Amino acid sequence: MKGWGVHLSKRAYNFNAGPAALPLPVLERAQSEFVDFRNSGMSIMEMSHRGAIYESVHNEAQERLLGLLGNPAGYKVLFLQGGATTQFAMVPMNFLKEGQVGSYVMTGSWADKAYKEAKLLGGAHVAASSEEQKFRAIPDLNAIVPAENAAYLHITSNETIEGTQYFKFPDSGKLPLIADMSSDILSHDLDINQFGLIYAGAQKNLGPSGVTVVIAKEELLAESPSHIPTIMRYSTHYKNNSLYNTPPSFSVYMVNEVLKWVEEQGGLAGVEAKNREKAGLLYQTIDGSGGFYRGVAEEASRSIMNVTFRMESEELEKKFIKGAEAEGFVGLKGHRSVGGLRASIYNAVPYESCKALADYMTHFQKTQA
Ligand SMILES: *Cc1c(COP(=O)(O)O)cnc(C)c1O
Repeated sequence: MKGWGVHLSKRAYNFNAGPAALPLPVLERAQSEFVDFRNSGMSIMEMSHRGAIYESVHNEAQERLLGLLGNPAGYKVLFLQGGATTQFAMVPMNFLKEGQVGSYVMTGSWADKAYKEAKLLGGAHVAASSEEQKFRAIPDLNAIVPAENAAYLHITSNETIEGTQYFKFPDSGKLPLIADMSSDILSHDLDINQFGLIYAGAQKNLGPSGVTVVIAKEELLAESPSHIPTIMRYSTHYKNNSLYNTPPSFSVYMVNEVLKWVEEQGGLAGVEAKNREKAGLLYQTIDGSGGFYRGVAEEASRSIMNVTFRMESEELEKKFIKGAEAEGFVGLKGHRSVGGLRASIYNAVPYESCKALADYMTHFQKTQA
């Protein structure tokens, strides 16, 4: 393939939506430790999750995650499986009591999936929706009104498919605020104290697929209903330090390495500055194209993780993608449900990839003049 920069040799310009790019130093480190982890004569994948070596990695990853969030008091990290999709079900299963509903802010495809699971498992209520704006914006925070019998307020902090993101969060009062942060966890500074529970599949900003991270107030994790399956209770995982059954050990190890890398970037503030620079460059290219490229999301709600845009016709979009693929760009096709184009620029996507994309966009526009 052509077009790969020297320092990115054999590395694609990877804009995949998930699983997505991982930091090169993390991959290299994992490679160097792959066969013989910490002089054990084994890969981390080959050893017991009850042993001291794995347990130290497991605990280290939890501590690092809380450290990056400023060591909030009273919070616990869980490493679960089943993806964010399983959390769509676990949240209502664990928190809805008889006669209660979950209140959901409808911002797009992922919020809708979460809402539907709550509907199956007790009851769901729409606290606000931007459907009338075709999900191009996050609703006005003041318009978010939970139901009187709500057990929690649920938001999707970044809509991966539509390309919208919250930068401020609703005040849920006494209700726990629960967020699906799958596609923007650790992408910007965050006061976790606003949240009762957040969850994220790891494969966008935290590591490989296979592990789902939950960070929650301990009071929400300590007691779960006894009528739901043992494995679906937060309390099971809380009481057993996420070692009730075999954890996805290699994925947890990778998360720990990615967290080290985030620390090296200057923590959340450092990562946020880089993400804003990357997203700024792409949105500038879109806005400066005189309408050749059109951003999907409204400006105030534009995601710094998933940059969605369209062109005049699907034909032209196809041509754009074909040309991009020939230049070594990967993953620019929009989600099959909405079409268009999408550049997912999670933490690990380097500025250089965004610069190359911006240059390609400008070049492509000129060839169509
Ligand atoms: C990717 C994604 C999911 C689905 O995650 P799985 O780990 O595949 O279940 C859920 N919510 C959001 C916001 C996502 O981006």
